[in-house]
Amino acid sequence: MIAVRSFAHQDVAVFGLARSGLAAIRALKDGGARVYAGDDKESAFAAAEAAGAHVASFSEWPWERIKALVLSPGVPLTHPAPHAVVARAAAAKVPVFGDMELFAREIGAHAPVIAVTGTNGKSTTTALIGHVLEALGHKAEIGGNIGKPALELAPPAARTVYVLEVSSYQIDLSPGLKPAMGVLTNITPDHIERHGSLDAYATLKGRLIEQSVTAAIGIDDSRSAELFTRLSAAGKSAVPVSVGKVLGRGVFVLDGVLHDSQGGRADRICDLNDAAHLRGAHNWQNAALAYAAAKPWARDGRALAGALLDFPGLAHRIEDVGRIGKVRFVNDSKATNADAAERALLCFDDIFWIAGGRAKQGGIESLRRLWPRIRKAYLIGEAASDFSRTLEGQVPFEMSGTLETAVAQALADAARSEAGSPVVLLSPACASFDQFNDFEQRGDAFRAAVARLAMKEAS
Ligand code: ADP
Repeated sequence: MIAVRSFAHQDVAVFGLARSGLAAIRALKDGGARVYAGDDKESAFAAAEAAGAHVASFSEWPWERIKALVLSPGVPLTHPAPHAVVARAAAAKVPVFGDMELFAREIGAHAPVIAVTGTNGKSTTTALIGHVLEALGHKAEIGGNIGKPALELAPPAARTVYVLEVSSYQIDLSPGLKPAMGVLTNITPDHIERHGSLDAYATLKGRLIEQSVTAAIGIDDSRSAELFTRLSAAGKSAVPVSVGKVLGRGVFVLDGVLHDSQGGRADRICDLNDAAHLRGAHNWQNAALAYAAAKPWARDGRALAGALLDFPGLAHRIEDVGRIGKVRFVNDSKATNADAAERALLCFDDIFWIAGGRAKQGGIESLRRLWPRIRKAYLIGEAASDFSRTLEGQVPFEMSGTLETAVAQALADAARSEAGSPVVLLSPACASFDQFNDFEQRGDAFRAAVARLAMKEAS
């Protein structure tokens, strides 16, 4: 845990008592602050009290004494409308920021921070960078939006490098986060409801990169490419990263082969096709970004290659969860939008596709060109009837309703099909909140359903 000392003997409020809020309370208490805490839900009150906070409705907080409001990234700051606690803080002229701002103020220049943002690939890229740095003998402290909240990471020690996944909500709340290395994976429409427009969202992502000392930027979408061009023109040090384009200077991947071009000559670094857990062009982008981001901490580029290739992969992202007979099961529960699902659909032929949940804007219209890969779809959750209208007359489908039913139906059809290596793929293109707490619970339910069916087959 990183103690936050900048508010010692002062009053601070924390609103939103999920993991990062509770971590903020502990870090502030450890640093000697008095902490008031609240949430719309009472379920976390006991944990906040146990962490040493005074829990009360925010209308009862001593606003005239409160020096800052630490807001959870899950509580609306601006869109669709500021939460009442944000309005109350504004009325009392109390500054509002997030746990990562506390982290940034505390760490300052004591240890380098690598911050990863973007629409898709953040967690994988963050985990890859951490994995590579560890292999190079650094002490990688990995957290933020992935795993541990930033303030729960260990305090800086010799060779510590912090690797943080930063969501756009967190960027909004951490104006003082100035990483040694900023990484932008890509910018595509997602979470627009929370930022008002794609432009506002792109501007936020850009802000983290602008605040970084140096950066690695995926330039394969137009908004990220524009940002790279603008920052380079302004004299910012940034490495462009592409999958499919040969770059005169930068890091690029062609047919899976990672190249590092310093201008004039492109060095061949490694063949990502040799990696067991970097399947698909999207993972080549993540690997190339991780390479570019970790390189300043490596003796030379080649030292990084071996570590990239033995990356063990992350759960719920095109994760192989087993086989029943000839049928393979792949858990890509993390694909909560169509763009992410597209990456998984591109990895396989003969797909028995489980999709649905709480729909995102645009549905699955953008996936039409992938229909030939899909043998049949199994639709679940709130989006099922919407998705069925898109698939009607083009791809056979079942209205499965629940994940459990979908897995059983998909297995039966896949086993019976003439396909040599059929894949039952859970890549929902939807949020999970209609039927599950989060994408992890949805992925775990898929894994458990597969395990139950495997037991039944075996008996
Ligand atoms: P994030 O943390 O940004 O949500 P993850 O690394 O957890 O990203 O990956 C989430 C999903 O997004 C994956 O299951 C995959 O389908 C897709 N994905 C991963 N990397 C990329 C990428 N570079 N570009 C597009 N989609 C990606």
